[in-house]
Amino acid sequence: MNLILFGPPAAGKGTQAKRLVNQRGMVQLSTGDMLRAARSSGSVLGQRVAGIMDRGELVSDEIVIALIEEALPAAEAAGGAIFDGFPRTVAQAETLDDMLTARGSRIDLVLRLRVDDDALLARVAKRFAEEGRSDDNPESFKVRLAAYNAQTTPLLPHYLAQGKLVEVDGMGAIDEVAREIDEALDGVKV
Ligand code: AMP
Repeated sequence: MNLILFGPPAAGKGTQAKRLVNQRGMVQLSTGDMLRAARSSGSVLGQRVAGIMDRGELVSDEIVIALIEEALPAAEAAGGAIFDGFPRTVAQAETLDDMLTARGSRIDLVLRLRVDDDALLARVAKRFAEEGRSDDNPESFKVRLAAYNAQTTPLLPHYLAQGKLVEVDGMGAIDEVAREIDEALDGVKV
């Protein structure tokens, strides 16, 4: 079972992915987490992406695709992959399809967490105050949201056409969102 958690920044994808890891033995593949780890390690890659991330822009398709390609086999061998924050462009989505097809595999479900912009802004302001993540500042967050609307929402027709898209109300409490996600997952024939 391979799942994409789709939605704007601060929609709750990471929270729900971590729960699914604990409850279903799936493996979270968060390109944002991978890039932050590269930054913390001080690697060349980390240094290359730091400014781009802090501004709230997308890093290149080539970089994130390479990260996913490396992590995918182990994730599939475990309980299946939860793609969190990937794919974010049409090119990434098409490459992911090709990568999975070559492995005799596929995306089984795309869960879109819907959260309105006002709620996202409130959540991210709280997270910025609590955690101080550099790209959660108001200016960068505006850029991240714009990148989502311009570059990532065009993926929705792609997954709709494949019959894989399920919408989830992401405005509720974490447990309510979790229940909706579980229902959708349990309805998938793998
Ligand atoms: P996230 O934690 O998913 O919000 O990602 C944080 C930042 O990492 C994003 O604002 C981008 O700069 C970068 N990033 C993460 N995933 C991707 C992706 N799939 N494509 C391009 N940039 C990404």
